[in-house]
Amino acid sequence: MTMTQVNETTGSTDQIAALPHERLERVWAWGGASSSMGYVFRPTTLEHLRDVFDLAQQTGRSVGLKGGGNSYGDAFMNSENIVLDLSRMNRILDWNPETGVVTAEPGVSIEKLWQYILEDGWWPPVVTGTMKTTLGGCAGMNVHGKNAWQVGPIGNHILQFDLMLPSGEIKTCSREVNSDIFYAAIGGFGMLGCFTSLTLQMKRIYSGYLQVKTGAPANLEGMFEFFEQNLEKSNYIVGWVDAFGKGDALGRGDAHIANYLPSGADPNPQQSLRLEHQDLPDTIVGVVPKSIMWMFMRPFMNNMGTSLVNLGKYVSGRVGSGREYLQTHAAFHFLLDYVPNWKKSYGSGGLIQYQPFIPKENAREAFAEILRTCQKHDLPNYLTVFKRHRPDDFLLTHGLDGFSMAMDFLITDSRRPQIAALARELDAIVLAANGRFYFAKDSTLTPDTVVAYLGQDTVAKFRALKKECDPDHVMQTDLWRRLFVA
Ligand SMILES: Cc1cc2nc3c(=O)[nH]c(=O)nc-3n(C[C@H](O)[C@H](O)[C@H](O)COP(=O)(O)OP(=O)(O)OC[C@H]3O[C@@H](n4cnc5c(N)ncnc54)[C@H](O)[C@@H]3O)c2cc1C
Repeated sequence: MTMTQVNETTGSTDQIAALPHERLERVWAWGGASSSMGYVFRPTTLEHLRDVFDLAQQTGRSVGLKGGGNSYGDAFMNSENIVLDLSRMNRILDWNPETGVVTAEPGVSIEKLWQYILEDGWWPPVVTGTMKTTLGGCAGMNVHGKNAWQVGPIGNHILQFDLMLPSGEIKTCSREVNSDIFYAAIGGFGMLGCFTSLTLQMKRIYSGYLQVKTGAPANLEGMFEFFEQNLEKSNYIVGWVDAFGKGDALGRGDAHIANYLPSGADPNPQQSLRLEHQDLPDTIVGVVPKSIMWMFMRPFMNNMGTSLVNLGKYVSGRVGSGREYLQTHAAFHFLLDYVPNWKKSYGSGGLIQYQPFIPKENAREAFAEILRTCQKHDLPNYLTVFKRHRPDDFLLTHGLDGFSMAMDFLITDSRRPQIAALARELDAIVLAANGRFYFAKDSTLTPDTVVAYLGQDTVAKFRALKKECDPDHVMQTDLWRRLFVA
């Protein structure tokens, strides 16, 4: 059976053949605020992967890649077309515990990776706030961790990868070989081809613990000072901002720094590096099962409820400020995995995230204006995470010498247009401050804003590389069409 579809890239009318109905599934953005129907294929081998690309060419369909599906918006959605889910290509292909170099298929999750290497005394150099992300998805977005200003994004630690082009050809890329594709495919959100294996350098560690210290800045100025005082002497820093703080308390929150233990500091590393030792607890405060915690959070997911919860969190942070303790790597990094399904507490409309990156010279003023603008519209965000970054060499980078603030916004039918309008206002503040954005978190950007922050030359260079790798425009997602096919 054939159908007619307008080619999103050329505007021409193409004949496309039907795909098997049983493959049709609703694919949800991680935040649950949007979804689209796609034909989902889950290959386990390179041959199967090639077959899907062949099928796409034969049927005139595009292919969007999906890893763990943890991008907040439409980065892995491909409406009415093929969604190639890589989560079953999840084998560790090679591991050298002497050098810490690992080669893995793209569907290997951060969870599987750290659990595989930990007992040998290694840890992934960059991890995301959830361990459910995959290496392919992490490379596709060039993710950062709470140590971004120290070690850069994950791309800095990728030594080499194999990329399958839609033609089925595999290109090996590194800083030396096919280097232009290397720097563009990392962070290229799956638009040049599919990573089929990735080789990364892991980080040596000498204990299953990190040494953690807390702070509770009284306002945004205090938050910046806390970061500046601790940047040089810390391996990780992360801040939480209470977006309801006003006036002198604008930007109040808490912050955590963490450091690796040096060799010899842990009296029993064999024990602390054991997997069982890193387990996240099954209950919250020893009583409430984690699995139902989101139900208790649900009644607080409104402005009044969250402002009260945030106040309580801030006050308890002040009381405990300066506290030092040991915490396992898993507990420090994957706090968001403590409460499974916490996103359900946002209700059926879900949430979106907005994460601008602002150069350090402009960050104080711009973030204060962003917080005040949200408050002015009575649309404060419910979770705000503050991080420090540095520039990198990747083509579509979100990295810069400055700070980012990741903000989660509750979505309901009535708030959806208000949040879209708010995002336009915030975009203007970010652009005026020479800031950048991040496709992994995006649901609201427009093509003009993308060109404005990346620059015409960068976009043109990326398009030229896409033409070289994917002349028939097979690689597409909803995000690509929203932002690059105006
Ligand atoms: C709770 C939570 C916390 C988070 N914390 C952080 C954080 O601390 N830092 C951060 O940077 N991000 C963070 N994120 C965002 C997340 O890390 C990124 O969206 C990441 O890309 C998701 O990985 P994934 O495997 O789920 O990939 P997906 O979301 O499925 O895909 C991400 C992109 O990669 C592409 N892709 C997937 N597989 C491949 C492949 N094999 N080859 C080429 N391209 C591919 C997709 O097409 C898509 O464009 C967080 C997300 C959540 C939900």
